[in-house]
Amino acid sequence: MGPAAWNSHYSYEGLLALATMTNQPKNGLIVIAGGGGFIGGALVRYFQERGFTRIRAIDKKPLPEWYQHVPGVESLCLDLSDRESCVQACEGAWEVYNLAADMGGMGFIERFRIECLRSVLINTHLIEAAYRAGAECYFYSSSACAYNTELQKDPKVRALKESDAYPAMAERGYGWEKLFSEMVCEEYWAERGMKTFIARFHNVYGPFGTWAGGREKAPAAMCRKAIEARDSGSNKIVIWGDGTATRSFMYIDDCVKGIDMITHCEDLIARPINLGSSELVSINQLVDIVESIAGMKLHREYDPKAPRGVAGRNSDNTMIQSILHWEPRTPLRDGMAKTYAWIAQQYADRKAGRRTVS
Ligand code: NAD
Repeated sequence: MGPAAWNSHYSYEGLLALATMTNQPKNGLIVIAGGGGFIGGALVRYFQERGFTRIRAIDKKPLPEWYQHVPGVESLCLDLSDRESCVQACEGAWEVYNLAADMGGMGFIERFRIECLRSVLINTHLIEAAYRAGAECYFYSSSACAYNTELQKDPKVRALKESDAYPAMAERGYGWEKLFSEMVCEEYWAERGMKTFIARFHNVYGPFGTWAGGREKAPAAMCRKAIEARDSGSNKIVIWGDGTATRSFMYIDDCVKGIDMITHCEDLIARPINLGSSELVSINQLVDIVESIAGMKLHREYDPKAPRGVAGRNSDNTMIQSILHWEPRTPLRDGMAKTYAWIAQQYADRKAGRRTVS
């Protein structure tokens, strides 16, 4: 039975079981670039929990700084913007997942556009190395920042569908790198026949993500600020912008499931697809959720000069629903409760002088 057939007949669980049974040998080498980071680390754990025995994780961060340490996984510290490192990383690979990029939340990507653009080196060398190593398939983590910014000027946005990336006017720096790298992946399929898969993530959050230091994204930042406000007794939170900007946020468990499903669906070869929640909230509503989890009322101050990104962005999930019969479903309130609890523990650990993720 071909993948097109199982797309239309099976539930998510069935689809996943079939994907892993039919395509992926449990001992085929899975290479995860960016395995020391948030999503890469979660993907390493995800595959290991599903019984895959040969996983190689690579990150340029020194090993003690990796967000997750998964026992039994080959963990290499390599700079994948270097061609030779990519060759080493892909040796013997069955599947290659590229989750490595120099990135962060709005504060980082608006300020460090060159660093963001230079991630083009990672994908360029890694995909070539994967191809030369004879890898079965290659996954690329793109972003909703690849979409045309002209379509995101109103908080009451129409959700973005896959065709909205062109005509192109991506986010400066980071978004253009994503759009170009998507095209590289598409051409490796068109010209060389390597199966490539591309997901456009919409804001991913959850435990084991960056929560401090300048690269954190809004969900983690709001949790941390609320915890700090309680700890200091100030009860004050500073919100970037005016709080009306809208976004959708995808819980990490949905993200790694989605990566697996997309990468094992032949209908999605070289077709960028949204991987995001369609639960749209304003930043003010995100703060409401944090307040209800924390059980406190915060005094809100707005910083109109801070980076804020586009006015509104949501994920149109028509394509993922029609092809995979699934979409990220974790309610924001539930995912935020888990994230808040994890950050509160990290905060306490840091205060006590114990090692933390960021
Ligand atoms: P992250 O920063 O936690 O992880 C990225 C990892 O890549 C880091 O650990 C970093 O050290 C590593 N890295 C950077 N440059 C490297 C290099 N030259 N060689 C080797 N490793 C290198 O970020 P994340 O949230 O896990 O994001 C993973 C991927 O998903 C990225 O491509 C990112 O652009 C994309 N994405 C993430 C989100 C999100 O909300 N987190 C949204 C859209 C797209």
